[in-house]
Amino acid sequence: MHDFRYVGKHLFCEGVELAALAEKFGTPFYVYSQNTLTDHFQKLDQALAPLDHLVCFAMKANSNLSVMRVLANLGSGFDVVSSGELQRVIAAGGDPRKCVFAGVAKTEAEIEFALRKGIYSFNVESEPEIVRINRVAGRLKKRAPIAVRVNPNIAADTHAKITTGTYENKFGIQFEQVEAVYARASKLPNIWLRGVQMHIGSQLTHVEPYEQAVTKVTPLVQKLAAKYKLEFFSPGGGLGIVYKTALDSGPRQWWSSPSAKGILTPALYAEKLLPLLQPLGLRILIEPGRFIVGNAGVLVTRVEYVKRTGQKNFVIVDAAMNDLIRPAFYDAFHEIVPLAKKGGARISSDVVGPICESGDYFCKDRPLPRVGEGDYLALLSAGAYGFVMASNYNTRPLIPEILVRGTQFAAARERQKVADIWSGEKVVAWLK
Ligand SMILES: *Cc1c(COP(=O)(O)O)cnc(C)c1O
Repeated sequence: MHDFRYVGKHLFCEGVELAALAEKFGTPFYVYSQNTLTDHFQKLDQALAPLDHLVCFAMKANSNLSVMRVLANLGSGFDVVSSGELQRVIAAGGDPRKCVFAGVAKTEAEIEFALRKGIYSFNVESEPEIVRINRVAGRLKKRAPIAVRVNPNIAADTHAKITTGTYENKFGIQFEQVEAVYARASKLPNIWLRGVQMHIGSQLTHVEPYEQAVTKVTPLVQKLAAKYKLEFFSPGGGLGIVYKTALDSGPRQWWSSPSAKGILTPALYAEKLLPLLQPLGLRILIEPGRFIVGNAGVLVTRVEYVKRTGQKNFVIVDAAMNDLIRPAFYDAFHEIVPLAKKGGARISSDVVGPICESGDYFCKDRPLPRVGEGDYLALLSAGAYGFVMASNYNTRPLIPEILVRGTQFAAARERQKVADIWSGEKVVAWLK
Protein backbone atom coordinates (compact mmCIF):
# COMPACT_ATOMS: atom_id res chain seq x y z
CA MET A 1 0.00 0.00 0.00
CA HIS A 2 2.70 2.42 -1.03
CA ASP A 3 0.12 5.16 -1.66
CA PHE A 4 -0.28 5.34 2.12
CA ARG A 5 3.05 6.48 3.53
CA TYR A 6 4.67 8.90 5.91
CA VAL A 7 5.95 12.14 4.47
CA GLY A 8 8.16 13.41 7.26
CA LYS A 9 6.09 12.65 10.36
CA HIS A 10 2.70 12.75 8.67
CA LEU A 11 0.70 9.93 7.10
CA PHE A 12 -0.46 10.68 3.59
CA CYS A 13 -2.77 9.01 1.11
CA GLU A 14 -1.19 9.83 -2.24
CA GLY A 15 -0.75 13.63 -2.08
CA VAL A 16 -3.27 14.26 0.70
CA GLU A 17 -2.39 14.48 4.39
CA LEU A 18 -4.84 12.31 6.33
CA ALA A 19 -4.88 14.62 9.37
CA ALA A 20 -6.17 17.40 7.09
CA LEU A 21 -9.04 15.11 6.01
CA ALA A 22 -9.75 14.36 9.67
CA GLU A 23 -10.02 18.07 10.41
CA LYS A 24 -12.25 18.66 7.40
CA PHE A 25 -14.62 15.70 7.59
CA GLY A 26 -14.42 14.77 11.27
CA THR A 27 -13.76 11.20 12.39
CA PRO A 28 -14.19 8.34 11.90
CA PHE A 29 -14.03 7.91 8.12
CA TYR A 30 -12.71 5.63 5.41
CA VAL A 31 -10.31 6.89 2.76
CA TYR A 32 -9.50 5.12 -0.51
CA SER A 33 -6.62 5.68 -2.93
CA GLN A 34 -7.69 5.76 -6.57
CA ASN A 35 -4.11 5.12 -7.65
CA THR A 36 -3.92 1.92 -5.58
CA LEU A 37 -7.27 0.68 -6.89
CA THR A 38 -6.08 1.27 -10.42
CA ASP A 39 -2.70 -0.29 -9.84
CA HIS A 40 -4.08 -3.47 -8.24
CA PHE A 41 -6.71 -3.93 -10.94
CA GLN A 42 -4.15 -3.45 -13.68
CA LYS A 43 -1.62 -5.82 -12.10
CA LEU A 44 -4.17 -8.65 -12.20
CA ASP A 45 -5.47 -7.68 -15.59
CA GLN A 46 -1.93 -7.73 -16.98
CA ALA A 47 -1.16 -11.07 -15.31
CA LEU A 48 -4.00 -12.59 -17.35
CA ALA A 49 -3.17 -10.67 -20.51
CA PRO A 50 -1.98 -13.76 -22.44
CA LEU A 51 -5.52 -15.15 -22.17
CA ASP A 52 -8.94 -14.00 -23.30
CA HIS A 53 -10.10 -12.91 -19.86
CA LEU A 54 -12.38 -10.75 -17.74
CA VAL A 55 -11.78 -9.52 -14.20
CA CYS A 56 -15.10 -9.34 -12.33
CA PHE A 57 -14.54 -7.34 -9.15
CA ALA A 58 -16.39 -9.03 -6.27
CA MET A 59 -18.22 -5.88 -5.24
CA LYS A 60 -19.38 -7.26 -1.92
CA ALA A 61 -15.88 -6.29 -0.72
CA ASN A 62 -16.48 -2.59 -1.43
CA SER A 63 -19.48 -1.33 -3.34
CA ASN A 64 -19.04 2.44 -3.06
CA LEU A 65 -20.23 3.96 -6.35
CA SER A 66 -17.00 5.90 -6.90
CA VAL A 67 -14.81 2.87 -6.21
CA MET A 68 -16.90 0.89 -8.66
CA ARG A 69 -16.76 3.64 -11.27
CA VAL A 70 -12.95 3.69 -11.06
CA LEU A 71 -12.94 -0.04 -11.81
CA ALA A 72 -15.68 0.10 -14.45
CA ASN A 73 -13.66 2.77 -16.26
CA LEU A 74 -10.73 0.33 -16.34
CA GLY A 75 -12.93 -2.29 -18.00
CA SER A 76 -13.81 -4.32 -14.93
CA GLY A 77 -16.88 -6.50 -14.74
CA PHE A 78 -18.51 -7.29 -11.40
CA ASP A 79 -19.35 -10.34 -9.34
CA VAL A 80 -22.74 -9.63 -7.75
CA VAL A 81 -24.56 -11.58 -5.05
CA SER A 82 -27.94 -9.83 -4.99
CA SER A 83 -30.18 -7.81 -7.27
CA GLY A 84 -29.35 -4.85 -5.05
CA GLU A 85 -25.72 -5.21 -6.09
CA LEU A 86 -26.70 -5.46 -9.75
CA GLN A 87 -28.69 -2.25 -9.39
CA ARG A 88 -25.60 -0.66 -7.87
CA VAL A 89 -23.54 -1.77 -10.88
CA ILE A 90 -25.98 0.10 -13.10
CA ALA A 91 -25.97 3.14 -10.79
CA ALA A 92 -22.15 3.17 -10.87
CA GLY A 93 -22.05 3.03 -14.66
CA GLY A 94 -20.96 -0.61 -14.93
CA ASP A 95 -22.12 -3.08 -17.55
CA PRO A 96 -24.47 -5.92 -16.47
CA ARG A 97 -23.28 -7.91 -19.48
CA LYS A 98 -19.89 -8.08 -17.75
CA CYS A 99 -21.42 -9.36 -14.51
CA VAL A 100 -21.69 -12.78 -12.96
CA PHE A 101 -24.31 -13.54 -10.33
CA ALA A 102 -23.15 -15.70 -7.40
CA GLY A 103 -24.86 -16.80 -4.20
CA VAL A 104 -26.75 -19.80 -2.86
CA ALA A 105 -30.24 -18.30 -2.54
CA LYS A 106 -31.13 -16.35 -5.68
CA THR A 107 -34.84 -15.51 -5.62
CA GLU A 108 -37.17 -15.63 -8.64
CA ALA A 109 -37.30 -11.83 -8.66
CA GLU A 110 -33.50 -11.60 -8.64
CA ILE A 111 -33.16 -14.12 -11.45
CA GLU A 112 -35.74 -12.26 -13.53
CA PHE A 113 -34.07 -8.88 -12.96
CA ALA A 114 -30.63 -10.24 -13.88
CA LEU A 115 -31.97 -11.92 -17.02
CA ARG A 116 -33.67 -8.74 -18.15
CA LYS A 117 -30.41 -6.83 -17.65
CA GLY A 118 -28.43 -9.35 -19.70
CA ILE A 119 -26.26 -10.93 -16.99
CA TYR A 120 -23.18 -12.73 -18.37
CA SER A 121 -23.66 -15.82 -16.22
CA PHE A 122 -25.44 -17.14 -13.17
CA ASN A 123 -22.89 -19.04 -11.11
CA VAL A 124 -25.26 -21.68 -9.77
CA GLU A 125 -24.84 -23.44 -6.48
CA SER A 126 -27.48 -26.19 -6.55
CA GLU A 127 -29.65 -28.20 -8.90
CA PRO A 128 -32.96 -26.73 -7.66
CA GLU A 129 -31.51 -23.33 -8.59
CA ILE A 130 -30.96 -24.51 -12.18
CA VAL A 131 -34.55 -25.72 -12.33
CA ARG A 132 -35.75 -22.34 -11.07
CA ILE A 133 -33.58 -20.36 -13.49
CA ASN A 134 -34.90 -22.50 -16.35
CA ARG A 135 -38.48 -21.77 -15.30
CA VAL A 136 -37.97 -18.01 -15.00
CA ALA A 137 -36.07 -17.86 -18.32
CA GLY A 138 -38.89 -19.82 -19.96
CA ARG A 139 -41.42 -17.30 -18.76
CA LEU A 140 -39.30 -14.49 -20.25
CA LYS A 141 -38.69 -16.50 -23.45
CA LYS A 142 -34.93 -16.32 -22.87
CA ARG A 143 -32.06 -18.77 -22.48
CA ALA A 144 -30.28 -18.19 -19.21
CA PRO A 145 -26.47 -18.43 -19.25
CA ILE A 146 -25.19 -20.51 -16.34
CA ALA A 147 -22.00 -21.97 -14.90
CA VAL A 148 -22.01 -24.53 -12.14
CA ARG A 149 -19.90 -23.63 -9.15
CA VAL A 150 -17.82 -26.72 -8.54
CA ASN A 151 -16.94 -27.47 -4.96
CA PRO A 152 -13.56 -29.21 -5.34
CA ASN A 153 -13.37 -30.24 -1.66
CA ILE A 154 -10.01 -28.58 -1.11
CA ALA A 155 -9.25 -26.94 2.23
CA ALA A 156 -8.01 -23.43 1.55
CA ASP A 157 -5.84 -22.97 4.63
CA THR A 158 -7.65 -19.82 5.72
CA HIS A 159 -10.01 -18.78 8.52
CA ALA A 160 -12.99 -21.15 9.00
CA LYS A 161 -15.50 -18.35 8.37
CA ILE A 162 -14.06 -17.70 4.89
CA THR A 163 -13.38 -21.28 3.76
CA THR A 164 -15.90 -22.19 1.07
CA GLY A 165 -14.44 -25.03 -1.00
CA THR A 166 -14.94 -28.08 1.20
CA TYR A 167 -17.95 -30.35 1.64
CA GLU A 168 -18.49 -28.82 5.07
CA ASN A 169 -19.56 -25.59 3.32
CA LYS A 170 -22.90 -24.64 1.82
CA PHE A 171 -21.29 -23.54 -1.46
CA GLY A 172 -21.19 -25.12 -4.88
CA ILE A 173 -22.00 -28.59 -6.21
CA GLN A 174 -19.85 -31.53 -5.16
CA PHE A 175 -17.10 -32.36 -7.63
CA GLU A 176 -18.30 -35.94 -8.15
CA GLN A 177 -21.84 -34.80 -9.05
CA VAL A 178 -20.98 -32.08 -11.52
CA GLU A 179 -20.98 -34.15 -14.74
CA ALA A 180 -24.41 -35.57 -14.04
CA VAL A 181 -25.74 -32.10 -13.24
CA TYR A 182 -24.50 -30.73 -16.60
CA ALA A 183 -26.07 -33.71 -18.36
CA ARG A 184 -29.46 -33.01 -16.77
CA ALA A 185 -29.18 -29.24 -17.22
CA SER A 186 -28.38 -29.69 -20.92
CA LYS A 187 -31.88 -31.10 -21.36
CA LEU A 188 -33.56 -27.98 -20.00
CA PRO A 189 -34.83 -25.82 -22.88
CA ASN A 190 -34.11 -22.42 -21.33
CA ILE A 191 -30.66 -23.11 -19.93
CA TRP A 192 -27.50 -22.12 -21.79
CA LEU A 193 -24.47 -23.94 -20.38
CA ARG A 194 -21.90 -21.21 -20.70
CA GLY A 195 -19.07 -22.07 -18.29
CA VAL A 196 -17.71 -23.66 -15.15
CA GLN A 197 -16.86 -21.79 -11.98
CA MET A 198 -15.17 -22.46 -8.64
CA HIS A 199 -14.20 -20.45 -5.56
CA ILE A 200 -12.45 -22.13 -2.66
CA GLY A 201 -12.32 -19.34 -0.11
CA SER A 202 -11.05 -15.93 0.79
CA GLN A 203 -7.75 -14.48 1.99
CA LEU A 204 -5.76 -17.26 0.29
CA THR A 205 -2.19 -16.19 0.83
CA HIS A 206 -0.45 -19.12 -0.85
CA VAL A 207 -0.70 -20.42 -4.36
CA GLU A 208 -0.74 -24.13 -3.46
CA PRO A 209 -4.43 -24.65 -2.57
CA TYR A 210 -5.38 -22.68 -5.69
CA GLU A 211 -3.04 -24.73 -7.84
CA GLN A 212 -4.31 -27.94 -6.29
CA ALA A 213 -7.95 -27.00 -6.90
CA VAL A 214 -7.36 -25.86 -10.49
CA THR A 215 -5.34 -29.01 -11.20
CA LYS A 216 -8.18 -31.11 -9.86
CA VAL A 217 -10.92 -29.31 -11.74
CA THR A 218 -9.39 -28.60 -15.17
CA PRO A 219 -9.72 -32.14 -16.62
CA LEU A 220 -13.42 -31.98 -15.79
CA VAL A 221 -13.67 -28.51 -17.31
CA GLN A 222 -12.02 -29.76 -20.49
CA LYS A 223 -14.47 -32.62 -20.78
CA LEU A 224 -17.53 -30.45 -20.15
CA ALA A 225 -16.27 -27.69 -22.46
CA ALA A 226 -15.93 -30.15 -25.35
CA LYS A 227 -19.29 -31.75 -24.72
CA TYR A 228 -21.36 -28.58 -24.22
CA LYS A 229 -19.33 -25.96 -26.14
CA LEU A 230 -18.64 -23.93 -23.03
CA GLU A 231 -17.20 -20.45 -23.32
CA PHE A 232 -15.47 -19.79 -19.99
CA PHE A 233 -13.88 -21.14 -16.85
CA SER A 234 -13.53 -19.16 -13.63
CA PRO A 235 -11.11 -20.25 -10.92
CA GLY A 236 -12.79 -17.66 -8.68
CA GLY A 237 -11.49 -14.95 -6.40
CA GLY A 238 -10.00 -15.14 -2.95
CA LEU A 239 -6.48 -13.84 -3.55
CA GLY A 240 -5.17 -12.80 -0.16
CA ILE A 241 -3.34 -9.68 0.89
CA VAL A 242 -0.74 -8.74 3.49
CA TYR A 243 -2.29 -7.21 6.59
CA LYS A 244 0.80 -7.21 8.82
CA THR A 245 3.36 -4.44 8.36
CA ALA A 246 1.42 -3.28 5.35
CA LEU A 247 3.22 0.07 5.45
CA ASP A 248 6.69 -1.49 5.02
CA SER A 249 6.19 -1.94 1.32
CA GLY A 250 8.93 -1.40 -1.16
CA PRO A 251 8.84 1.24 -3.82
CA ARG A 252 5.81 -0.25 -5.57
CA GLN A 253 3.41 -2.69 -3.86
CA TRP A 254 2.64 -4.27 -0.52
CA TRP A 255 3.48 -7.65 -2.00
CA SER A 256 7.10 -6.61 -2.26
CA SER A 257 7.27 -6.09 1.52
CA PRO A 258 9.48 -8.51 3.51
CA SER A 259 6.45 -9.94 5.30
CA ALA A 260 4.94 -10.94 1.97
CA LYS A 261 7.58 -13.59 1.28
CA GLY A 262 6.00 -16.54 -0.53
CA ILE A 263 2.63 -14.82 -0.88
CA LEU A 264 0.33 -15.26 -3.84
CA THR A 265 1.21 -12.30 -6.08
CA PRO A 266 -0.18 -11.56 -9.53
CA ALA A 267 3.17 -12.69 -10.99
CA LEU A 268 3.08 -15.98 -9.08
CA TYR A 269 -0.55 -16.44 -10.02
CA ALA A 270 0.38 -16.05 -13.66
CA GLU A 271 3.43 -18.30 -13.37
CA LYS A 272 1.62 -21.18 -11.66
CA LEU A 273 -1.90 -20.94 -13.04
CA LEU A 274 -1.54 -19.76 -16.64
CA PRO A 275 0.09 -23.05 -17.71
CA LEU A 276 -2.93 -24.88 -16.26
CA LEU A 277 -5.52 -22.49 -17.72
CA GLN A 278 -4.07 -21.78 -21.17
CA PRO A 279 -4.57 -25.30 -22.61
CA LEU A 280 -8.30 -25.08 -21.91
CA GLY A 281 -8.65 -22.58 -24.74
CA LEU A 282 -11.49 -20.95 -22.83
CA ARG A 283 -12.17 -17.43 -21.73
CA ILE A 284 -10.93 -17.05 -18.13
CA LEU A 285 -12.88 -15.05 -15.56
CA ILE A 286 -11.61 -14.19 -12.10
CA GLU A 287 -13.61 -12.65 -9.26
CA PRO A 288 -11.23 -10.96 -6.82
CA GLY A 289 -12.52 -8.59 -4.17
CA ARG A 290 -10.08 -8.09 -1.31
CA PHE A 291 -7.01 -8.15 -3.55
CA ILE A 292 -8.15 -5.04 -5.40
CA VAL A 293 -9.56 -2.93 -2.56
CA GLY A 294 -8.15 -4.29 0.71
CA ASN A 295 -4.93 -2.33 0.75
CA ALA A 296 -6.46 0.62 -1.10
CA GLY A 297 -8.26 1.92 2.00
CA VAL A 298 -7.75 2.85 5.64
CA LEU A 299 -10.08 3.75 8.49
CA VAL A 300 -9.15 6.95 10.34
CA THR A 301 -10.25 7.36 13.95
CA ARG A 302 -9.58 9.71 16.86
CA VAL A 303 -8.49 8.82 20.38
CA GLU A 304 -11.19 9.92 22.83
CA TYR A 305 -9.69 8.65 26.05
CA VAL A 306 -6.78 6.64 27.34
CA LYS A 307 -7.74 4.52 30.33
CA ARG A 308 -4.99 2.86 32.32
CA THR A 309 -5.92 0.07 34.66
CA GLY A 310 -3.61 -2.15 36.69
CA GLN A 311 -3.44 -4.61 33.80
CA LYS A 312 -4.23 -2.68 30.67
CA ASN A 313 -3.69 0.43 28.63
CA PHE A 314 -7.04 0.97 26.88
CA VAL A 315 -6.95 3.34 23.93
CA ILE A 316 -10.60 4.28 23.45
CA VAL A 317 -11.31 5.53 19.93
CA ASP A 318 -14.36 6.95 18.15
CA ALA A 319 -14.57 4.13 15.57
CA ALA A 320 -16.21 0.88 16.58
CA MET A 321 -17.11 -2.62 15.50
CA ASN A 322 -20.16 -1.23 13.70
CA ASP A 323 -17.75 0.64 11.38
CA LEU A 324 -15.26 -2.22 10.93
CA ILE A 325 -16.39 -5.60 12.18
CA ARG A 326 -13.53 -7.74 10.88
CA PRO A 327 -11.57 -8.01 14.17
CA ALA A 328 -14.72 -9.03 16.07
CA PHE A 329 -16.05 -11.29 13.32
CA TYR A 330 -12.96 -13.00 11.92
CA ASP A 331 -10.29 -12.30 14.55
CA ALA A 332 -8.81 -10.16 11.79
CA PHE A 333 -5.57 -8.24 12.20
CA HIS A 334 -5.37 -4.59 11.14
CA GLU A 335 -2.17 -2.65 11.52
CA ILE A 336 -2.79 0.48 13.64
CA VAL A 337 -0.56 3.53 13.21
CA PRO A 338 -0.76 7.15 14.37
CA LEU A 339 -1.28 9.79 11.68
CA ALA A 340 1.54 11.76 13.33
CA LYS A 341 4.53 9.46 13.68
CA LYS A 342 5.70 9.03 17.26
CA GLY A 343 9.05 8.02 18.67
CA GLY A 344 9.65 6.68 22.14
CA ALA A 345 8.92 3.35 23.77
CA ARG A 346 5.90 1.31 22.76
CA ILE A 347 3.28 0.35 25.27
CA SER A 348 1.12 -2.75 25.21
CA SER A 349 -2.35 -1.45 24.32
CA ASP A 350 -5.91 -2.52 23.61
CA VAL A 351 -7.56 -0.27 21.04
CA VAL A 352 -11.30 -0.37 21.74
CA GLY A 353 -14.44 1.34 20.51
CA PRO A 354 -17.40 2.97 22.29
CA ILE A 355 -19.89 0.13 21.77
CA CYS A 356 -21.31 -1.83 24.69
CA GLU A 357 -19.87 -5.18 23.61
CA SER A 358 -16.70 -6.86 24.82
CA GLY A 359 -16.12 -7.79 21.17
CA ASP A 360 -15.76 -4.12 20.29
CA TYR A 361 -11.98 -3.99 20.00
CA PHE A 362 -9.50 -3.52 17.17
CA CYS A 363 -6.50 -5.09 18.87
CA LYS A 364 -5.46 -6.53 22.21
CA ASP A 365 -2.12 -6.31 24.02
CA ARG A 366 -0.38 -4.85 21.01
CA PRO A 367 2.77 -2.77 21.42
CA LEU A 368 1.79 0.67 20.11
CA PRO A 369 3.30 4.12 20.39
CA ARG A 370 2.03 6.04 23.39
CA VAL A 371 -0.95 8.14 22.22
CA GLY A 372 -3.31 10.52 23.96
CA GLU A 373 -6.68 12.20 23.62
CA GLY A 374 -7.10 13.94 20.28
CA ASP A 375 -4.48 11.89 18.45
CA TYR A 376 -5.57 10.33 15.19
CA LEU A 377 -4.97 6.68 14.30
CA ALA A 378 -5.29 4.82 11.03
CA LEU A 379 -6.42 1.19 10.79
CA LEU A 380 -4.69 -0.05 7.67
CA SER A 381 -5.87 -2.47 4.99
CA ALA A 382 -9.50 -1.57 5.67
CA GLY A 383 -10.67 -1.13 2.06
CA ALA A 384 -12.28 -4.58 1.80
CA TYR A 385 -15.16 -5.86 3.96
CA GLY A 386 -14.99 -2.64 5.95
CA PHE A 387 -17.65 -0.07 5.14
CA VAL A 388 -19.86 -2.65 3.39
CA MET A 389 -20.33 -4.53 6.64
CA ALA A 390 -21.06 -1.41 8.68
CA SER A 391 -24.28 -1.15 10.67
CA ASN A 392 -26.15 1.42 12.73
CA TYR A 393 -25.71 -0.54 15.95
CA ASN A 394 -25.91 1.84 18.94
CA THR A 395 -27.61 4.34 16.58
CA ARG A 396 -24.25 5.31 15.17
CA PRO A 397 -24.45 6.91 11.73
CA LEU A 398 -22.65 5.33 8.76
CA ILE A 399 -19.34 7.10 8.29
CA PRO A 400 -17.97 8.97 5.25
CA GLU A 401 -15.93 7.38 2.49
CA ILE A 402 -13.38 9.73 0.93
CA LEU A 403 -11.75 9.09 -2.43
CA VAL A 404 -8.28 10.52 -3.08
CA ARG A 405 -6.62 11.02 -6.44
CA GLY A 406 -3.23 12.73 -6.28
CA THR A 407 -3.79 15.90 -4.32
CA GLN A 408 -7.56 15.82 -4.95
CA PHE A 409 -10.08 14.42 -2.48
CA ALA A 410 -13.85 14.24 -2.28
CA ALA A 411 -16.53 12.57 -0.20
CA ALA A 412 -17.68 9.50 -2.13
CA ARG A 413 -20.19 9.15 0.68
CA GLU A 414 -21.28 11.74 3.22
CA ARG A 415 -21.63 11.01 6.91
CA GLN A 416 -25.17 9.75 7.53
CA LYS A 417 -27.46 12.13 9.38
CA VAL A 418 -28.59 10.74 12.71
CA ALA A 419 -32.31 11.26 11.99
CA ASP A 420 -31.89 9.30 8.73
CA ILE A 421 -31.07 6.23 10.80
CA TRP A 422 -34.73 5.90 11.86
CA SER A 423 -36.28 7.47 8.77
CA GLY A 424 -37.91 4.18 7.75
CA GLU A 425 -39.37 3.59 11.19
CA LYS A 426 -42.57 4.87 12.72
CA VAL A 427 -44.49 4.82 15.95
CA VAL A 428 -47.37 2.51 14.97
CA ALA A 429 -50.90 3.91 14.90
CA TRP A 430 -52.25 2.29 18.07
CA LEU A 431 -49.48 3.84 20.12
CA LYS A 432 -50.44 7.37 19.14
C1 LIG B 1 -16.54 -13.34 -1.66
C2 LIG B 1 -16.42 -13.97 -2.97
C3 LIG B 1 -15.42 -13.56 -3.85
C4 LIG B 1 -14.38 -12.54 -3.49
O1 LIG B 1 -13.57 -12.96 -2.46
P1 LIG B 1 -12.24 -12.14 -2.12
O2 LIG B 1 -11.59 -12.93 -1.07
O3 LIG B 1 -12.64 -10.79 -1.67
O4 LIG B 1 -11.43 -12.10 -3.38
C5 LIG B 1 -15.39 -14.12 -5.10
N1 LIG B 1 -16.29 -15.06 -5.48
C6 LIG B 1 -17.25 -15.49 -4.65
C7 LIG B 1 -18.22 -16.50 -5.12
C8 LIG B 1 -17.35 -14.97 -3.37
O5 LIG B 1 -18.29 -15.41 -2.54
